[in-house]
Amino acid sequence: MRFQELDISRLARDSKASAWLAVGPRADGGDWCLPFLYVMGVTAGPTLLVLGAVHGDEYEGVETIPEVFRRVAPDVLRGALLMVPICNVPAYEAVLRSSPIDGLNLARVFPGDPNGTITQRIAYWITQKLIKPADFVIDLHSGGVTAEIPSLIGFTQSDNELGRRSRAGALAFGASVVWEHPPPMPPGRSLSAAIDLGVPAIYTEAGGGGYAHPSDVSCFTTGVINVMKHLDMLDGQPQLQPITHHLSGDGNMDSVISTPAAGYFRSDVALLDEVSAGQRLGTVRDPFGKVMAEITTESPGVVIMLRRIHRVHVGDNLAHVTGRLGG
Ligand SMILES: [Zn+2]
Repeated sequence: MRFQELDISRLARDSKASAWLAVGPRADGGDWCLPFLYVMGVTAGPTLLVLGAVHGDEYEGVETIPEVFRRVAPDVLRGALLMVPICNVPAYEAVLRSSPIDGLNLARVFPGDPNGTITQRIAYWITQKLIKPADFVIDLHSGGVTAEIPSLIGFTQSDNELGRRSRAGALAFGASVVWEHPPPMPPGRSLSAAIDLGVPAIYTEAGGGGYAHPSDVSCFTTGVINVMKHLDMLDGQPQLQPITHHLSGDGNMDSVISTPAAGYFRSDVALLDEVSAGQRLGTVRDPFGKVMAEITTESPGVVIMLRRIHRVHVGDNLAHVTGRLGG
């Protein structure tokens, strides 16, 4: 099926199926196709959209989504469950964060362009055909190959109905680390497209490193089912993990602590460590062991991201420190 021909309102009630959505032409004469899974409940209710692999090197969503699909039957579902386990298919093929075809980061080009390059077209049709008719969006991210991030649920905390609904969904997801961000949300994300359309939205992070930890897949699977219970799409109460860290701060990973030197990075700290202002987070050394740069944090807080690949170029992102809620 061509993605632009998809009409969610015409999917039959009491059905469960998968399909390929053709989104744009390949050079070999075929099409780039996105995998699509949906469950339509017997009765009417909310529409939940779940996205995976918006970054092509993040695998948690790719494994979580078919598992959620396996667990949800139409006869117990109220509403519609729509899921795309691999959004940036070209990047996924190449084990890359961004597309090898046009170099674009899918999470920076929403709401997309129907006449643009392949990444812009993917963003456009996801926005028009899936985000627009949704009542809630969950975008499953992780640290990818280069970064390590604690398993968490994140959202932008706005003081309005949309912010409150996003927050309630995030808390219902049930992860032990909750990370909220002050508005405005940076542009280009699936979540910014959702919020602009009035759809509450949340996202995950996880360990990454080119490997989906079974504990993260389990946490995300339970989390998506929890949100469905919260939205009254399924019977039952969400199974919540106790919150160990409720964090607050800028979640834009494009502007974090980067390195002024090239070389070999070794961190001194671990994820979720408490650090003080001026504390050393790690060093960058040359091949003779000489320290080329000491990496410090200007602000105190909790370590929320660390680079996973030791070799660093000048300007590479190394770490991010965020605050505790109210602190
Ligand atoms: Zn990501």
